[in-house]
Amino acid sequence: MRGSSMVDIGARNELVVLDAIRSDPDGSSQSEVIRRSGLSRQAVSLITRRLLERGIVETAGTLGGARGKPRTLLKVVPTALLAAGVHLDPSGIAIAIVDLEARVVAEETLPAPTTDPEADVARIAAGLDAVLDRLEREGWRAPDGGTPAETLLGIGVASPGSLDARRGLVESPPWLPGWRDVPLTELLGAATGRPVMLDKDTNAALTAELWYGRRTVEGTVLYLYVGAGVGSAVASGGRVRAGATTQAGEIGHLPTGLPGTRCGCGRLACLSMFTDVAGMLERTAQGVPLSGGAPTSAHVAALVARADAGEEGPLAEVRGHGTALGEALRTLISVHDPSLVIIGGPYWELLSPHALPGLLERARSTDRGAPEVEIRSSVFGDDVGAIGAATLQMGRALSPATLPA
Ligand SMILES: [Zn+2]
Repeated sequence: MRGSSMVDIGARNELVVLDAIRSDPDGSSQSEVIRRSGLSRQAVSLITRRLLERGIVETAGTLGGARGKPRTLLKVVPTALLAAGVHLDPSGIAIAIVDLEARVVAEETLPAPTTDPEADVARIAAGLDAVLDRLEREGWRAPDGGTPAETLLGIGVASPGSLDARRGLVESPPWLPGWRDVPLTELLGAATGRPVMLDKDTNAALTAELWYGRRTVEGTVLYLYVGAGVGSAVASGGRVRAGATTQAGEIGHLPTGLPGTRCGCGRLACLSMFTDVAGMLERTAQGVPLSGGAPTSAHVAALVARADAGEEGPLAEVRGHGTALGEALRTLISVHDPSLVIIGGPYWELLSPHALPGLLERARSTDRGAPEVEIRSSVFGDDVGAIGAATLQMGRALSPATLPA
């Protein structure tokens, strides 16, 4: 049976213990696991022994105590479990298989979504099978000997909004024409026989940060997602706050207060007028044709290369992106009062060398007199959407309390 490793790992308590061990990247002592899991010493001891025997958990040195015997530290073996992430991006469909450390063990990019969602779902299911088969042929095995297909917890999908995460419905993303009220989790679940979860790309990206950063990203975290458009996501208490209808963080029409023209929405100088990649390419007369209307990272890389070469128009565009995002961030910091701001998304790595200085300058010119907020770039690159989608599934299985609320 596929996914049997998951069934072997079995009881809920084992996953609770796994998550408690995992939550400190440097290793956790048994007493820490008992405290975090809320389980009895006997239960933790029994489960830990079983996990050690099966190679899912390993010892990672000892912690010398002033009194008593030194405590053994436990670590989760990252390849003990896998999850698949699918990023439904207008420029392509990315599939990533990731391990418990949110490391990519295999990935694949399929052509962009079409106007036929059902055919696209069949392509995704076939693509996923192909990636798992390839990994198996390459000799990948879990510590307990499980094949990639047996070790896979399930599938997470990240999509641009609007969508309804609870119902697994892709409603009407402006960049995915033909995708209207598509019951994606149901379709992909039927095509693969696996559990499927859906969330917005912005929320998935923040979930990846929380999963990777563990306890270092507690408090209120604000995430800025830089892709074909920009979006935001917020987490508090280690949990992404998606809003009542998964619409939180739609910041494209936040007025920036910068000099600019009137937006289609009626307001002046909206954020999206500076940050929509299609508009940036249009204004700089980027010579690369837009296939199917959606810009790709190749377009953005070409624009940045021109900025690197000192060409005035492209340089002004990428700097302007940062300035506008900084103005929006200044507003968002006042609204959310975060302890940490993370900026990421598919195009941030490319844009940040030119965009970050202006962004920081604007974001920090705050008048609220609060201590300086830590602002940092994501540890993930352009595959953050697929990685984030996979961590949605990791969270479902290991630590449901971290899932978007
Ligand atoms: Zn607007």
